Amino acid sequence: MIPYGKQDIIYEDIEAVTSVLKSDFLTQGPCVPSFESNLAKYCRVDYAVAVNSATSALHIACMALNLGPGDILWTSSITFVASANCALYCGASVDFVDIDPETFNIDIEVLELKLLQAEKEGTLPKILVPVHLCGQPCNMKRIYELAQKFNFKIIEDASHAIGSMYKDLPTGSCEYSDICVFSFHPVKIITSGEGGAALTKNEELAQKMISLRTHGITNSPEKMHERPEDELWNYQQVMLGFNYRMTDLQAALVNNQLKRLDSYVQSRNILAEKYKAAFTELPLFSQKTQDDILSSYHIYVVRLDVRNINITNKDLYLSLNKAGIGANLHYIPVYKHPYYETLGFKSGYCPEAESYYKNAITLPLYPSLESSDHDYVIKFLRNLFR
Ligand SMILES: *Cc1c(COP(=O)(O)O)cnc(C)c1O
Repeated sequence: MIPYGKQDIIYEDIEAVTSVLKSDFLTQGPCVPSFESNLAKYCRVDYAVAVNSATSALHIACMALNLGPGDILWTSSITFVASANCALYCGASVDFVDIDPETFNIDIEVLELKLLQAEKEGTLPKILVPVHLCGQPCNMKRIYELAQKFNFKIIEDASHAIGSMYKDLPTGSCEYSDICVFSFHPVKIITSGEGGAALTKNEELAQKMISLRTHGITNSPEKMHERPEDELWNYQQVMLGFNYRMTDLQAALVNNQLKRLDSYVQSRNILAEKYKAAFTELPLFSQKTQDDILSSYHIYVVRLDVRNINITNKDLYLSLNKAGIGANLHYIPVYKHPYYETLGFKSGYCPEAESYYKNAITLPLYPSLESSDHDYVIKFLRNLFR
């Protein structure tokens, strides 16, 4: 079976992890700060806070921005559930914005209209989580302008998008956001096994997230409350945090993977271009890409042109699987999950997201995809639609 995505582990990655195993520190050693500094440098940002998943990063990002009961977070209707769950962890509520049918990202016009309506009703969001679906950055400049006008904060969910660029800046630079989050799950672009990071230009937000990832404990004197004169132990818990730390084993792996990030993104772009060119003759729409971006192509999604054919994405999924091609769907609209239905979301809430759900499919794309396998997928689709 050709999977839809796959990690790439080389000999040097294994060496990097084994050397940590032989060292004094399995966690909280030198590898985490070294990775954080390399990541921040790559993204041209001041602070990178490594944690044990993107889900944890989203959670502490929301907490650092003081999201709490009575507040609302908005995100895209087509994303992984974690982009929305982080609001609920904080006791806030969540709402969804419909997608642009061509870019698959949040629809900026729909967002603006929804904000105008929410302003009238007094239900403006405190935080917006734009998601760079498939690795294509959203129109962050427009989103940033709306954030100024309607006074909300921005957390980019860039779980798909490390290595992508927007207007000549790497995603993670936080030029148009407060915080940007990456995932290092094995299916993502670079991996630490499980892992994530939150990036920011804001020192106060960074310090808060550093403290939240380790129980809300601080050892910086200016953050500490008054202590007895003879207090010897140099740490205090000053807020309620978690154990969301990344281990040194994980940091060593992802630090080494980071060296190959640009070449991974380049390979993914070459494979994606080949798909795109082949599909122009088929009843398949590829994601429309903006001019001022470089996508990292975490996944390759196509939509069936249902005006011209009478098969569904379910039929396509089943026949691809039968042929040994591990297709998938990214994603079910978040609010259609049973848990979200219990929160009161109804079918039909975001019409474009629902039509995407009925005709989108994810095809295999990863740097080590053999060109014979890649050709096989294309040939299979050509024959299917002939
Ligand atoms: C993978 C993913 C996450 C969660 O990442 P983890 O590191 O597994 O917690 C969040 N948002 C999006 C869009 C993702 O694809």
